Amino acid sequence: MSSVEKIVQGICNLCIINCGMQLTIRDNQLVKVEPISGSIYRTLCPRGLALREWLYSKEHIPYPMKRVNNEWRRITWGEALSTISTKLEDIKEKFGARAVAIAAADMNSGADWLARRFANVYGTPNFSASGGPFCEIGKRLAAWLTYGYYPEAHLPSTHCLVLWGANPEDSSPTVKYAYEGIYKKQGKLLVVDPRTTDFAKQANVHAKVRPGTDGAFALGLINVIISEGLYDKEFIKKWTVGFDRLVEVAKDYFPEKVEKITWVPAHEIREFARIYATTRPATIRYGVSVEHSTNQFQSARAALFLPALTGNLEVEGGHVRPGPLPKIAHTWQVRDLADKAVGQDEFPLYYKYVYEWISGHDANFARLPEVMLTEKPYPIKAFVAVGGNAATQWPNTNKVKEALAKVDFMMVKDFYMTETAKLAHIFLPTASYLEQQYFSWSAYYGGVTRIALFDKYLEPPEERWTDSRFWLELAKMMGYGEYFPWQDQEAFNEDIMKQMGTTAKEVLSLGAKGFYYAPRKFGQYKSEGFPTPSGKVEFYAERILKGGKEGYDPLLTYEEPAESVVSRPDLAKEYPLILTTGGRSMLYTHSRYRYIESIRKLRDPDIEINTEDAKKYGIKNGATVVVSSPRGSTKVKAVVTGNIIPGVVHMISGWPDGCNVLTDDTALDAYSGVPGFRSSLCKISAA
Ligand code: SF4
Repeated sequence: MSSVEKIVQGICNLCIINCGMQLTIRDNQLVKVEPISGSIYRTLCPRGLALREWLYSKEHIPYPMKRVNNEWRRITWGEALSTISTKLEDIKEKFGARAVAIAAADMNSGADWLARRFANVYGTPNFSASGGPFCEIGKRLAAWLTYGYYPEAHLPSTHCLVLWGANPEDSSPTVKYAYEGIYKKQGKLLVVDPRTTDFAKQANVHAKVRPGTDGAFALGLINVIISEGLYDKEFIKKWTVGFDRLVEVAKDYFPEKVEKITWVPAHEIREFARIYATTRPATIRYGVSVEHSTNQFQSARAALFLPALTGNLEVEGGHVRPGPLPKIAHTWQVRDLADKAVGQDEFPLYYKYVYEWISGHDANFARLPEVMLTEKPYPIKAFVAVGGNAATQWPNTNKVKEALAKVDFMMVKDFYMTETAKLAHIFLPTASYLEQQYFSWSAYYGGVTRIALFDKYLEPPEERWTDSRFWLELAKMMGYGEYFPWQDQEAFNEDIMKQMGTTAKEVLSLGAKGFYYAPRKFGQYKSEGFPTPSGKVEFYAERILKGGKEGYDPLLTYEEPAESVVSRPDLAKEYPLILTTGGRSMLYTHSRYRYIESIRKLRDPDIEINTEDAKKYGIKNGATVVVSSPRGSTKVKAVVTGNIIPGVVHMISGWPDGCNVLTDDTALDAYSGVPGFRSSLCKISAA
C-alpha cells in the first residue's frame, strides 16, 4: 500500500508563544517539524524541535489507570468515568459540592470553559483556571482595577522598550529578534532585573533591583517623572482620577531613599525615569516576576501606572487595549452558587475581579493546601486536576503533597505521571493538541483579537482523550447534558466560530494566519472612556476600598516582602541569601518536558549564585550544594556567575523536589494571595 504524505501549517503548542510550524505527516505519523519559511517565527526553540520526541514519548501513558494498594492498574474509560461520577456524587451528598476542588489548565481548546461550566453545574465554587494565583494573574488583577483591562505591550513601533523582570531570550526565544529590533534601530532599552541577561547587557540602563522591591522602584520612577514635570499633563487632567493623591504618596520615594530599599543607585533611577518618560512611544513588557512577591498587587499597580503617567496608553508603540472575547467566553456560569469559595473571604478582590473579564470568579488555590489539611472553614474531600502540576509548581511542595495525600479522592488528567499524578487515585491520559481540532487564541494573552483554528492532523490513540471530550462525557454521565449540548469538540468549536460571525470551515481554511474578529483600535478611550467605574484611569480606585477589606489601600503603598533581609533580620541570620525562583528557561515550560531525553540532558537542576557569595560560602562552580529554607531543603548544582547580584540566588521551577520545597505558602499578598516566589530567604552549603 502506498503511503500518504501531507505537509500542513500548524503551530507548536509546547508553550504559550504558539509558533507557526510546518508539519510533515505520513500515514498518521508526524515525521518532520520545521519553521515556516517567511513567518514571524524564524526558528524553533529546543522544545519545538523536539516535538516528535515529545509526541511519541514512551513516558506518555496510553490508557486510564487506577491506583490500588499503591499499584497502578489499567482500567477502561467507562470504569474511570463511572468511578469519578460516583465519587463526586457521594462527596456532594455527604459534604456538599464545595468539598470538591477543580483545577483546569487547557486554554487552547476551550476545555477550560467546559471545566468552569462543569464546576458550576455540579455546584462547587472551588474552581481555579490555569495557574490561578501562581502565574500571570496577579498583575492582571492590578491592571483590571486601574484601567479596566490589561494594557498589553505594543512592540512593533515602540522607541523605548522596558523589560521589567522579563527575558525574551528564554521566554520568547523564537521572536526575540522583534525585541532586539527595537534597540538595534537606536531605540532605547531599559531593563529591571537582578540578573544580567543578554538583553540587560545591551540596555541603556539596567536597574539591578533587589527581588521583591519592584514597587519601591516604580514609586521612585513616579517620583522623578512627577517632580521633573515629565508626565503627560493633558492626559492626566482629562483621563485620570487620584493624581493629586498619587503626588502625595510618590513624593516620599525620592531616589536616594529608593536606592536604600532597592539597591539601585539613585542616579540610575533618575536616568531610567528620564529616558522612559521622554522617549515616545514607550512600552513596558511586564514579566511574571513583577507579580511574584508578597507585596505584588501594589507593586504591580505602581509599575502599571507608568504608561498612564507618560501618555503611552492606547497608542502605537505604547500599550494597547485587548480586544473583546466572544460571547461564549462569558456564558460558562449557569447558576449562582450560595457557598463561598476557598480564599474568598481572605482575598475578596481576587474572587470578585480576577475573572470578571469573562464574567467569572475563581477560588484562590494558594489557600487550598491549608484548607485541605485543617478542614477549615470546611473540608475539601476531592481534587480534580486537568493539567497543572501542584506538587512542583505551588509553594511549599512538601505541604502541598501532604495535603493532596489527605483527600479522599483525587483525579489527574495529563500526559505522563507527574509528581501530582503520583498521588492520584485515577489517572486519565490526554490526547495531544495535534490530535484534535484546536484553536490558538491571542486575546487571552497578547491582546490581539485573532483566532486560528487547526485541523485534527493526527488520529489519537484510542484511549487518549482530549480534555473537551472528557468534560463532555463526564457531564453527560452525571446527567448535565442539557448544559453541555455539544456532541463533540468540533460542535463546540463551531458554536464559538458562529458567535464570531464565521464558520469553523472558513477559519480552518485561513490556516495559521487565522481570523481577526474585531479590529484593533488605538485611542479607544477618547470616544468610550476607560471601562472603570469613573470611566478614567484610576490612580485612586474606590473599588479597592469598597470591594476589599480593612486595610486595603485604594491608592498605593509599598511594603517590604514578608520574608526579606529587611523585614526578617532574625531569620536572615540563619538564611542570609535572597532566593528568587521561576525565571524562564527555553528548555522547559513550567514543569513540562523534563522527560524528553534530548532536552533533559541540556540542563541539570541548578542554582545561580554570585561569584563573591560562592567564595564566601566555599561553593565551587558545578559542585552539588544543599539549599535550605525554613520550609525544607534540596540538592542542586551550583552555577557560579557574575550575572546575578550579590546576596541573591536564582533557581528555575519545575523539578521534582525543586525550588518550591523552599518557598513559603503562608505569607501571601493581601490583595491577590500571590506567594513570594521571587523573594524569600535561604542558605547554601556544599553537599
Ligand atoms: S517558543 Fe518553542 S516551545 Fe514555545 S511555541 Fe515556539 S517552538 Fe514551541
